[in-house]
Amino acid sequence: MKEYDVVVLGAGMGGLAAAALWAQKGERVLLVESHYAGGGCAGYFKRKQGYYDVGATTLSGLADGRPVNKILKKLNLDLKTYHCNPGIKVNTEDEVFNFYASLDELNDELIRVFNLDCLKTLKKWQALEDLLWESLDYVQDFPNIGPSTIKKFFMNPTRKLLKHPKLFTSSFYNYLPKEMKKNKKFIRVLDQLLLISTQQTSKTCPAFMGILGFFYPLDTHAIEGGMWGLVKSLESKIQSFGGEIKYRSTCEKIEKEGGAYLISTNKEQIKCSKLISNISPEVFDSLFMDKELKQDKGKIWGAMTAYFSFSSKIPITELYQQVHYRDGSLFFSFSHPDDQHRSEGMQMVTVSTHVDCDGFDQRDDAYKNKKEKFKTDVLDAFNKCFKEHEIDEVAFDSVGTPLTFKHYTQRLNGEVGGLIHNSALSLLRLIPNKMKNENIYFVGDYTFPGQGIVSVFQSALNTIKE
Ligand SMILES: Cc1cc2nc3c(=O)[nH]c(=O)nc-3n(C[C@H](O)[C@H](O)[C@H](O)COP(=O)(O)OP(=O)(O)OC[C@H]3O[C@@H](n4cnc5c(N)ncnc54)[C@H](O)[C@@H]3O)c2cc1C
Repeated sequence: MKEYDVVVLGAGMGGLAAAALWAQKGERVLLVESHYAGGGCAGYFKRKQGYYDVGATTLSGLADGRPVNKILKKLNLDLKTYHCNPGIKVNTEDEVFNFYASLDELNDELIRVFNLDCLKTLKKWQALEDLLWESLDYVQDFPNIGPSTIKKFFMNPTRKLLKHPKLFTSSFYNYLPKEMKKNKKFIRVLDQLLLISTQQTSKTCPAFMGILGFFYPLDTHAIEGGMWGLVKSLESKIQSFGGEIKYRSTCEKIEKEGGAYLISTNKEQIKCSKLISNISPEVFDSLFMDKELKQDKGKIWGAMTAYFSFSSKIPITELYQQVHYRDGSLFFSFSHPDDQHRSEGMQMVTVSTHVDCDGFDQRDDAYKNKKEKFKTDVLDAFNKCFKEHEIDEVAFDSVGTPLTFKHYTQRLNGEVGGLIHNSALSLLRLIPNKMKNENIYFVGDYTFPGQGIVSVFQSALNTIKE
C-alpha cells in the first residue's frame, strides 16, 4: 500500500489549489479525482473546435491582497489573463448597462442609465470591500467563528468593520441609499448580478455579501485557454513540487487506522496522515464511517448550460454578457478572440442560468423538452443580441442540466450554486475547515462563504494558515 503525507479527495479548484499548496510545503501529496479531468464545476471539455468551460468562466479576485492574487503569487502560477472592462455587460430588454472597472466610469454609467449619481457611496463601499477581504488574513480558523476570531477582529485594522454593524445585520436592499432603493430598473440589474455573484437577490443577501457581490465584475478576468488553462497550470505546479494526480480514481471508503487514514478508491488502497476533502459533505459523510458530518445547507441552486461555437465577421470582445428576459437572465461567456490556446478561428461560448434542481429527476420526455427549449431560448437570444457581429456559422454542441453536473461532479441532485447566506447567522451553518480532533481539512464552496473560484481558493489557503 502506498503512503502519502496528504491525500486530497477531488480535483475541483479547491482540491487543485490545496494539493499545490501542500506539495509546495514539501509534503508527499496525492490528488485523486473521479472524473477524467480536473476543475469540477470550473472544469472544461474538449471538442474539435476548442475547449469549452463547463460552468465557471470568469476569474475575479486578482487585485492585490485578494485570494486569487495570493494563490497566483504564492504558487508563481504561469497564467495569462485578460482584464475585462466592462467586467460584465448587461443587456436588458431596452438598454445596455456596463459594469466598468473604475469607480468614475461606473458612476458615469449609473448616471447615464439610471440617473443615479453615487460616487460617494461607491467609494465608501470599496473601502469596506477592502476591509472585508483583509479581515480574512486575521481569522485563521474561519468559518469557525469563536472567541478567538472575534478577538482578532478587535485587534487588527479590520476592527473598523465593527463600526458598521448594519453590514452584518441588514439585507443589502435595506443598506442601499434611498435613491438606489427607489429605482426599480437599477434593482432589477442589481438583483440579476447578485444572483450570479452571491446566488440570491438584494432583499435576502446580507449587506456585506452584497458589497462583495456588487464589486465582483470590477475585477473580472478571462484566462488564456479558459478553465483548461487554469487547471493545467495548477496540475503542472502540483507535479513540479513532486505531487501526484490520479484521474478516474473514485474514493469509495475512508477508514481510520491508528493515527492514519486508509482510503479505498475504485483502483487501490492508500494510506495518509492528513486528508483534505474537496467533496460535498453528504458524499464525504457516506464515505467516512467514523464521524458524522451533517450540514444544514438549505436550498442550493442548480444550473442549466449550453455550449456552442461560432465564427463572425466582427469578433465579440466584451466577453461576459448577461441577457435579461422576462423571468430571469442568461449569462453568455465568450472565449477571447485572440486566444489561440482555446480555439482557432471560432469563439467558444458557455451560457448558463440558475434552475431549481428538483425539476430534473429523470431522463424522460419532459427532460428532453426542457433541454430543447433551453437550446432554442439560448440561440434566439444570441441571434437577437449579437446580430451586429455578423455571425457566419454556429456549431451547437450540447445542453447541460443538473443531472449532467451530478454525473460529472457527484454533487447531490446537481446542486452547484454554493451555499446561500441569507443572513449573517447562516455563516454558522458552514462546516468547519478542519474536523475536530482529526487531521481532516475541508476545501470548496461548501466550507467557505460566497462561491466561486475566489472563495474556494481562499478555503485552500486557510488549510495551510497554521
Ligand atoms: C454554471 C456555473 C457557472 C459558474 N460561474 C462561475 C464563474 O464565472 N466564476 C467563478 O469563480 N465561479 C463560478 N461558478 C462557481 C464555481 O464553479 C464553483 O463554486 C467552484 O468551482 C467549486 O469548486 P469546489 O472546489 O468547491 O468543488 P467542485 O467543483 O464540486 O469539485 C469537486 C471535485 O470532487 C470530485 N469528486 C467528488 N466525489 C469524489 C470522490 N468520491 N472521489 C474522487 N473525486 C470526487 C468531483 O468530480 C469534482 O471534480 C459557477 C458554477 C456553475 C455551476
